[in-house]
Amino acid sequence: MTRKKLIAGNWKMNETIPEAVVLAQEISNLADPAALDAVDVAVCPPFVDLKPVKTVLEFDRVNIALGAQNVYWEPAGAFTGEISIPMIKEIGCTYCIVGHSERRNLFGETNEGVNLKARALIEAGIAPIVCVGESLSVRDEGVYLDFVTSQVRAAFAGMDAEDAVRAVVAYEPVWAIGTGRTATPEQAEEVCAAIRATLAELFGDDVAQQVRVLYGGSMNEGNAALLLVQPDIDGGLIGGAALKAVSFIEIVKAAR
Ligand code: PEP
Repeated sequence: MTRKKLIAGNWKMNETIPEAVVLAQEISNLADPAALDAVDVAVCPPFVDLKPVKTVLEFDRVNIALGAQNVYWEPAGAFTGEISIPMIKEIGCTYCIVGHSERRNLFGETNEGVNLKARALIEAGIAPIVCVGESLSVRDEGVYLDFVTSQVRAAFAGMDAEDAVRAVVAYEPVWAIGTGRTATPEQAEEVCAAIRATLAELFGDDVAQQVRVLYGGSMNEGNAALLLVQPDIDGGLIGGAALKAVSFIEIVKAAR
Protein backbone atom coordinates (compact mmCIF):
# COMPACT_ATOMS: atom_id res chain seq x y z
CA MET A 1 0.00 0.00 0.00
CA THR A 2 1.40 3.41 -0.95
CA ARG A 3 0.63 6.09 1.57
CA LYS A 4 0.83 9.70 0.42
CA LYS A 5 3.49 11.40 2.48
CA LEU A 6 2.58 14.27 4.79
CA ILE A 7 4.95 17.08 5.73
CA ALA A 8 3.53 19.25 8.51
CA GLY A 9 5.21 22.34 9.90
CA ASN A 10 4.77 23.00 13.62
CA TRP A 11 5.46 26.69 14.06
CA LYS A 12 5.10 26.37 17.87
CA MET A 13 4.84 29.75 19.69
CA ASN A 14 6.56 31.67 16.91
CA GLU A 15 5.49 34.39 14.45
CA THR A 16 3.33 37.41 15.14
CA ILE A 17 0.57 37.94 12.58
CA PRO A 18 2.70 40.06 10.20
CA GLU A 19 5.58 37.59 10.50
CA ALA A 20 3.27 34.64 9.91
CA VAL A 21 1.87 36.27 6.78
CA VAL A 22 5.39 36.76 5.41
CA LEU A 23 6.37 33.16 6.19
CA ALA A 24 3.20 31.79 4.59
CA GLN A 25 3.84 33.93 1.51
CA GLU A 26 7.43 32.72 1.27
CA ILE A 27 6.35 29.09 1.56
CA SER A 28 3.60 29.61 -0.98
CA ASN A 29 5.99 31.32 -3.43
CA LEU A 30 8.60 28.58 -3.19
CA ALA A 31 6.21 25.64 -3.33
CA ASP A 32 6.19 23.73 -6.58
CA PRO A 33 2.59 22.79 -7.50
CA ALA A 34 3.75 19.37 -8.73
CA ALA A 35 5.36 18.66 -5.35
CA LEU A 36 2.16 19.73 -3.60
CA ASP A 37 0.22 17.24 -5.72
CA ALA A 38 2.58 14.45 -4.80
CA VAL A 39 2.89 15.24 -1.09
CA ASP A 40 0.34 16.48 1.44
CA VAL A 41 1.68 19.61 3.11
CA ALA A 42 0.30 21.41 6.15
CA VAL A 43 1.35 24.33 8.29
CA CYS A 44 0.35 24.59 11.94
CA PRO A 45 0.76 28.20 13.12
CA PRO A 46 -0.31 29.59 16.52
CA PHE A 47 -4.08 30.10 16.90
CA VAL A 48 -3.99 33.86 16.27
CA ASP A 49 -2.14 33.32 12.98
CA LEU A 50 -4.55 30.71 11.59
CA LYS A 51 -6.93 33.10 9.85
CA PRO A 52 -4.26 35.38 8.30
CA VAL A 53 -2.27 32.35 7.11
CA LYS A 54 -5.42 30.79 5.68
CA THR A 55 -6.10 34.05 3.81
CA VAL A 56 -2.62 33.94 2.23
CA LEU A 57 -2.97 30.28 1.20
CA GLU A 58 -6.41 30.89 -0.27
CA PHE A 59 -5.34 34.02 -2.11
CA ASP A 60 -2.40 32.15 -3.63
CA ARG A 61 -4.60 29.09 -4.33
CA VAL A 62 -1.81 26.95 -2.99
CA ASN A 63 -2.51 23.37 -1.99
CA ILE A 64 -1.23 23.63 1.60
CA ALA A 65 -3.50 22.60 4.44
CA LEU A 66 -3.92 24.32 7.77
CA GLY A 67 -3.52 22.72 11.16
CA ALA A 68 -3.80 23.84 14.77
CA GLN A 69 -1.26 22.92 17.44
CA ASN A 70 -3.74 22.03 20.16
CA VAL A 71 -7.46 22.11 20.92
CA TYR A 72 -9.91 21.36 23.73
CA TRP A 73 -12.35 18.48 23.39
CA GLU A 74 -15.54 20.19 24.65
CA PRO A 75 -17.47 22.06 21.94
CA ALA A 76 -18.11 25.25 23.96
CA GLY A 77 -18.52 26.54 27.49
CA ALA A 78 -16.73 27.81 30.58
CA PHE A 79 -13.18 26.74 29.68
CA THR A 80 -11.24 29.97 29.97
CA GLY A 81 -8.28 30.20 27.64
CA GLU A 82 -9.18 27.16 25.58
CA ILE A 83 -10.00 26.91 21.86
CA SER A 84 -12.69 24.55 20.59
CA ILE A 85 -12.86 22.19 17.65
CA PRO A 86 -15.74 24.11 16.00
CA MET A 87 -13.55 27.25 16.18
CA ILE A 88 -10.58 25.71 14.38
CA LYS A 89 -12.87 23.92 11.95
CA GLU A 90 -14.60 27.16 10.99
CA ILE A 91 -11.21 28.74 10.22
CA GLY A 92 -10.41 25.83 7.92
CA CYS A 93 -8.12 23.52 9.87
CA THR A 94 -8.05 19.99 8.54
CA TYR A 95 -5.31 18.80 10.92
CA CYS A 96 -4.61 19.36 14.60
CA ILE A 97 -1.53 18.30 16.54
CA VAL A 98 -2.37 16.59 19.84
CA GLY A 99 -0.12 15.37 22.61
CA HIS A 100 3.03 17.15 21.50
CA SER A 101 5.76 16.41 24.04
CA GLU A 102 5.94 20.11 24.92
CA ARG A 103 2.25 20.00 25.84
CA ARG A 104 2.71 16.77 27.77
CA ASN A 105 5.83 17.91 29.61
CA LEU A 106 5.24 21.64 30.12
CA PHE A 107 1.45 21.79 30.33
CA GLY A 108 0.53 18.49 31.96
CA GLU A 109 -1.26 16.95 28.99
CA THR A 110 -2.11 13.32 29.77
CA ASN A 111 -2.72 10.22 27.67
CA GLU A 112 -6.41 10.50 28.64
CA GLY A 113 -6.62 14.09 27.40
CA VAL A 114 -4.86 13.15 24.18
CA ASN A 115 -7.41 10.41 23.63
CA LEU A 116 -10.37 12.75 24.26
CA LYS A 117 -8.94 15.33 21.88
CA ALA A 118 -8.13 12.80 19.14
CA ARG A 119 -11.60 11.25 19.30
CA ALA A 120 -13.40 14.60 19.31
CA LEU A 121 -11.33 15.79 16.34
CA ILE A 122 -12.08 12.66 14.32
CA GLU A 123 -15.75 13.02 15.12
CA ALA A 124 -15.57 16.57 13.71
CA GLY A 125 -13.74 15.50 10.55
CA ILE A 126 -10.33 16.92 11.50
CA ALA A 127 -7.31 14.60 11.38
CA PRO A 128 -5.46 14.51 14.70
CA ILE A 129 -1.68 14.31 14.44
CA VAL A 130 -1.10 12.28 17.59
CA CYS A 131 2.41 12.78 18.94
CA VAL A 132 4.16 10.04 20.86
CA GLY A 133 7.77 9.61 21.86
CA GLU A 134 10.12 8.68 24.66
CA SER A 135 12.52 10.74 26.76
CA LEU A 136 16.23 10.03 26.73
CA SER A 137 16.05 8.21 30.07
CA VAL A 138 13.33 5.89 28.77
CA ARG A 139 15.44 5.19 25.67
CA ASP A 140 18.53 4.53 27.77
CA GLU A 141 16.56 2.10 29.95
CA GLY A 142 15.77 0.17 26.75
CA VAL A 143 11.99 0.24 27.25
CA TYR A 144 11.19 2.80 24.56
CA LEU A 145 9.15 0.48 22.34
CA ASP A 146 6.85 -0.45 25.24
CA PHE A 147 6.60 3.20 26.25
CA VAL A 148 5.72 4.51 22.80
CA THR A 149 3.32 1.70 21.92
CA SER A 150 1.50 2.20 25.22
CA GLN A 151 1.07 5.89 24.33
CA VAL A 152 -0.40 4.75 21.00
CA ARG A 153 -2.79 2.32 22.73
CA ALA A 154 -3.94 5.07 25.08
CA ALA A 155 -4.42 7.62 22.29
CA PHE A 156 -6.51 5.19 20.20
CA ALA A 157 -8.55 3.73 23.09
CA GLY A 158 -12.25 3.55 22.32
CA MET A 159 -11.80 4.13 18.59
CA ASP A 160 -13.03 1.74 15.95
CA ALA A 161 -11.27 1.01 12.66
CA GLU A 162 -13.22 3.71 10.84
CA ASP A 163 -12.00 6.33 13.34
CA ALA A 164 -8.44 5.06 13.52
CA VAL A 165 -7.89 5.26 9.81
CA ARG A 166 -8.46 9.02 9.93
CA ALA A 167 -5.68 9.69 12.44
CA VAL A 168 -2.01 10.44 11.83
CA VAL A 169 0.68 9.42 14.33
CA ALA A 170 3.92 11.35 14.77
CA TYR A 171 6.82 9.58 16.44
CA GLU A 172 8.83 12.33 18.07
CA PRO A 173 11.57 11.16 20.42
CA VAL A 174 11.78 13.90 23.05
CA TRP A 175 15.58 13.79 22.95
CA ALA A 176 15.51 14.75 19.27
CA ILE A 177 13.08 17.68 19.44
CA GLY A 178 14.76 21.03 19.00
CA THR A 179 18.10 19.54 20.00
CA GLY A 180 19.70 19.13 16.59
CA ARG A 181 20.12 15.46 17.50
CA THR A 182 18.07 13.54 14.95
CA ALA A 183 17.19 9.87 15.37
CA THR A 184 19.06 7.77 12.84
CA PRO A 185 16.87 6.44 10.03
CA GLU A 186 17.18 2.98 11.62
CA GLN A 187 16.15 4.22 15.08
CA ALA A 188 13.18 6.12 13.66
CA GLU A 189 12.12 3.23 11.43
CA GLU A 190 12.27 0.74 14.31
CA VAL A 191 9.77 2.74 16.36
CA CYS A 192 7.54 3.73 13.43
CA ALA A 193 7.31 0.05 12.46
CA ALA A 194 6.40 -0.85 16.07
CA ILE A 195 3.68 1.83 16.01
CA ARG A 196 2.26 0.33 12.82
CA ALA A 197 2.39 -3.17 14.31
CA THR A 198 0.45 -1.89 17.33
CA LEU A 199 -2.18 -0.35 15.06
CA ALA A 200 -2.42 -3.67 13.22
CA GLU A 201 -2.94 -5.47 16.51
CA LEU A 202 -5.66 -3.01 17.54
CA PHE A 203 -7.50 -2.46 14.25
CA GLY A 204 -6.20 -4.98 11.71
CA ASP A 205 -3.52 -4.79 9.07
CA ASP A 206 -5.71 -2.99 6.54
CA VAL A 207 -6.10 0.00 8.88
CA ALA A 208 -2.46 -0.09 9.95
CA GLN A 209 -1.37 0.07 6.32
CA GLN A 210 -3.45 3.21 5.76
CA VAL A 211 -2.50 5.27 8.83
CA ARG A 212 0.38 7.67 8.21
CA VAL A 213 3.18 7.50 10.74
CA LEU A 214 5.43 10.56 10.68
CA TYR A 215 8.83 11.13 12.22
CA GLY A 216 9.63 14.39 14.02
CA GLY A 217 12.76 15.57 15.78
CA SER A 218 15.33 17.89 14.20
CA MET A 219 14.34 16.86 10.69
CA ASN A 220 15.89 19.24 8.17
CA GLU A 221 16.76 19.47 4.50
CA GLY A 222 20.02 17.60 5.12
CA ASN A 223 18.62 14.50 6.83
CA ALA A 224 15.04 14.32 5.51
CA ALA A 225 15.65 12.15 2.45
CA LEU A 226 17.18 9.24 4.38
CA LEU A 227 14.43 9.33 6.99
CA LEU A 228 11.61 9.63 4.47
CA VAL A 229 12.78 6.67 2.44
CA GLN A 230 12.19 4.29 5.36
CA PRO A 231 9.25 1.96 4.71
CA ASP A 232 7.26 2.92 7.81
CA ILE A 233 7.99 6.67 7.81
CA ASP A 234 5.24 8.45 5.92
CA GLY A 235 6.34 12.03 6.38
CA GLY A 236 7.59 14.49 8.93
CA LEU A 237 6.44 16.83 11.66
CA ILE A 238 8.90 19.67 11.38
CA GLY A 239 9.62 22.26 14.07
CA GLY A 240 12.64 24.55 13.66
CA ALA A 241 13.10 23.92 9.94
CA ALA A 242 9.44 24.81 9.29
CA LEU A 243 10.22 28.42 10.21
CA LYS A 244 12.57 28.74 7.23
CA ALA A 245 10.60 28.61 4.01
CA VAL A 246 13.56 27.33 1.97
CA SER A 247 14.28 24.49 4.40
CA PHE A 248 10.63 23.52 4.71
CA ILE A 249 10.17 23.38 0.95
CA GLU A 250 13.37 21.35 0.55
CA ILE A 251 11.93 18.81 3.00
CA VAL A 252 8.71 18.72 0.95
CA LYS A 253 10.82 18.02 -2.16
CA ALA A 254 12.66 15.24 -0.33
CA ALA A 255 9.31 13.59 0.40
CA ARG A 256 8.38 13.24 -3.28
C1 PEP B 1 8.41 19.43 16.83
O1 PEP B 1 8.32 20.32 17.66
O2 PEP B 1 7.41 18.79 16.53
C2 PEP B 1 9.72 19.19 16.21
C3 PEP B 1 9.88 18.10 15.54
O3 PEP B 1 10.68 20.16 16.42
P1 PEP B 1 12.14 20.19 15.74
O4 PEP B 1 11.97 19.84 14.29
O5 PEP B 1 12.60 21.59 15.94
O6 PEP B 1 12.98 19.19 16.46
